[in-house]
Amino acid sequence: MKNLTILGSTGSIGVSTLEIVAAHPEKFRVVALTAGKNLDLLLQQIAAFSPQLVAVKNEALALKLQEMLPDNRTAIMHGVAGMIAAATAPDTNMVVAAIVGAAGLVPTAAAIEAGKDIALANKETLVTAGRLIMDMVKARGVKLYPVDSEHSAVFQSLQGHRKEDVRRIILTASGGPFLNLSAEKLGQVTVTDALNHPNWSMGQKITIDSASMMNKGLEVIEARWLFDMPAEKIAVNIHPQSIIHSMVEYTDGCVMAQLGTPDMKAPIAYALTYPGRVPTGVKPLDLTSLSGLTFFQPDSVRFPALQLAYRAMGDGESMPTVMNAANEVAVAAFLSGRIKFTDIARAIEKAMDLHDPRTLDSIEDVLDIDQWSREKCSELLKHF
Ligand code: NAD
Ligand code: MG
Repeated sequence: MKNLTILGSTGSIGVSTLEIVAAHPEKFRVVALTAGKNLDLLLQQIAAFSPQLVAVKNEALALKLQEMLPDNRTAIMHGVAGMIAAATAPDTNMVVAAIVGAAGLVPTAAAIEAGKDIALANKETLVTAGRLIMDMVKARGVKLYPVDSEHSAVFQSLQGHRKEDVRRIILTASGGPFLNLSAEKLGQVTVTDALNHPNWSMGQKITIDSASMMNKGLEVIEARWLFDMPAEKIAVNIHPQSIIHSMVEYTDGCVMAQLGTPDMKAPIAYALTYPGRVPTGVKPLDLTSLSGLTFFQPDSVRFPALQLAYRAMGDGESMPTVMNAANEVAVAAFLSGRIKFTDIARAIEKAMDLHDPRTLDSIEDVLDIDQWSREKCSELLKHF
């Protein structure tokens, strides 16, 4: 029996995780759930899974939830302290980290410190504090399993092989909704256009990141830390059909790939049940029904965000922190209609140019730099 805490249970990954849990009640028990603001969905989840503890974003929401809850069997907490309590609940042995953004860092770090195994969806944790987090994972002897589909594919393609035989990791990218749009048209796309991802249904922030290719930049950094690979051994191929989820190329020229219908339930389940597998309800892959699988190089002129991630990794340890925070601010500004789509990468680059990179000392240090970058980027955006 795996006892789970799900951080971000009302999000896209959280909901898919609970679908897997519901399908395998003999394998999983829910100890704690955390949500931002969606109290209606959280109430349904409490009724279905009877967690000991739930945490919501702030006190007002916690009070409201208390009024809505028919009984007192579930403890209600709030804020960062509540997220940490859920992440470190004594009965939990695995934490699904599915909060979006750098807000996931502190609870995920607390779970690792408390010795919990992690199923990691929140890639921003590794982007913003990769070395510190991997050091904590090693020191505490916990297991960190990727949920991100590309990293799950790499993880699966590495099974039974030796790391020293790896020549490259090749992450695939769908290219998003604007893959074939001209540079000029990219400046005019709407929020609705950007939220219309061709292959995956996901939360808003990652959907915009996918459209700008920043998602792939974040994933290159995530892969760098998860698999302890230098940036120059991590390549990106555009693969619009999202059937090959990523690949590992070995020194003898052999390439291992993982394929499947694009559905996050497959990588989520693998992280929860590794090394075993369980039925997920994911539509079986019928290669004969596909018209073809295509691959090409990303266009760094129309989609500069991917190159910003490679630059950040080369610049120094604090630069990915700055890039990640600036991206969160710029994406929020785009979503609220304040800036153009092409301004996202422009704002991030400007924030990065203003930063003097250095080594990261602690999680508190990461939070300080994250805050600095948010303020800088917000200031910059006033002049856009
Ligand atoms: P989402 O927006 O659908 O859900 C985010 C969850 O986090 C929600 O439960 C929300 O209430 C909660 N949350 C947001 N801000 C919070 C805060 N400040 N404090 C506490 N809780 C907060 O996002 P998602 O698409 O499920 O993505 C979650 C994470 O998984 C992201 O890091 C994303 O990059 C990663 N991921 C998602 C997918 C996908 O298919 N959705 C695939 C790969 C990786
Ligand atoms: Mg991914």
